[in-house]
Amino acid sequence: MANAWEERKKALENEYFHKKENELLDKMKHDAQETLIQGCCKGRCPKCGDEIEPMTFRGVPLDKCPSCGGIWLGPNDLKMLAEKDHRTWFDRWFHAEQEETTDQEV
Ligand SMILES: [Zn+2]
Repeated sequence: MANAWEERKKALENEYFHKKENELLDKMKHDAQETLIQGCCKGRCPKCGDEIEPMTFRGVPLDKCPSCGGIWLGPNDLKMLAEKDHRTWFDRWFHAEQEETTDQEV
């Protein structure tokens, strides 16, 4: 009977290592995929995939996509722009958005 127990123990050990190996393989696959995605998407437009170009708007550095015209703002960029002259462009943009909404409701 001793051999049967030894075999069972070995089988359980093998199962454990097999599971651990699979987990490690899955993690490696996931990491490789993430690296690939990050490598492909870095500096690319999330909307159309074209290469984004740096630009400066009112002294604030932004990223612009030449294909679809999308503009990306950093965490402080919108705040910086709003603080620069909030009574002009920001207000106009904000009110234009509100008017658009009102038009749609009528
Ligand atoms: Zn784009």
